Amino acid sequence: MTPDQTTPVQTPPAGRPQLRQWELTVTAVADAPANMRRVTFTAPDIAEFTYRAGQAIVMMLPAGDGEFGRRDYTIRSLDKEKGLLDVDFFMHGDGTHLTPGPAFARDAKIGDKISVRGPRGGASFREDADWHLITGDECCIPAIFHILETMPAKAQMHVLIEVDNVASQIALNDVREGLSATQITWLHRGDQKAGPSDLMAEAVAGFMLPHGRGHAILIGETSNVRKQRQNLISRGLTREQIASEGYWRPGRIGGHDHVED
Ligand SMILES: Cc1cc2nc3c(=O)[nH]c(=O)nc-3n(C[C@H](O)[C@H](O)[C@H](O)COP(=O)(O)OP(=O)(O)OC[C@H]3O[C@@H](n4cnc5c(N)ncnc54)[C@H](O)[C@@H]3O)c2cc1C
Repeated sequence: MTPDQTTPVQTPPAGRPQLRQWELTVTAVADAPANMRRVTFTAPDIAEFTYRAGQAIVMMLPAGDGEFGRRDYTIRSLDKEKGLLDVDFFMHGDGTHLTPGPAFARDAKIGDKISVRGPRGGASFREDADWHLITGDECCIPAIFHILETMPAKAQMHVLIEVDNVASQIALNDVREGLSATQITWLHRGDQKAGPSDLMAEAVAGFMLPHGRGHAILIGETSNVRKQRQNLISRGLTREQIASEGYWRPGRIGGHDHVED
């Protein structure tokens, strides 16, 4: 599971800055609620890693037959004093055939090494907004919770998270005074398969826009993100007030979708 120094990390499209490469070493692996596997990494130069809550790293994960595939994963937390960076992998799928992300998280062992690039991504908290809306499904919980745990205590945050049922809800540790002002609404898809649906779009359509200038972070399955974005734009939010990114979609392998229409 140790890529050598020539591990291919794809270069970004022309015009985009090359992301810095980091060589991470696994220091711990554990189950995390609700259906996550948390892998903790370190690196000799980790103290130089700076990012905004909600940003991600692009990991080169073993994809079988000696190949490596790019997968985007959020920085769940970074403890600079201890030099430890956590990533939470959502164990999607039925467990019979694990895709590279969950397979890496299941099999990772202390001492494994992996190449990543980053940080990247614009779905992060904007200090200057009067209110914030953030939506996503299970694989967005690492981003959402990291933002909630690090945002200013006075921030007016409205959170909508889609999961299958109540057992997949995660408690927000009230580690900081003021976080109780955060409103988290959990949406249950029940027996429906995760993926394209109207569940989140309808919840966003029913969300009463608070007074003041807001900022929305819309992440999750690409077509669901697009519907939410179009609804908010139809209600007067400008494109600058919305950060939207497709984190996955049925049939796509790794990568991310910019949702800008
Ligand atoms: C910026 C960014 C940050 C992200 N952060 C995280 C994170 O912190 N934790 C996390 O778990 N994921 C995160 N994701 C999502 C993750 O990158 C994708 O789910 C990715 O496809 C996982 O790789 P894989 O090897 O499991 O599946 P792939 O090999 O990429 O995909 C195989 C198939 O699995 C299905 N699939 C993929 N993802 C999901 C899913 N989430 N739910 C249901 N079916 C799926 C699709 O049908 C896909 O075609 C993030 C994505 C982005 C763009």
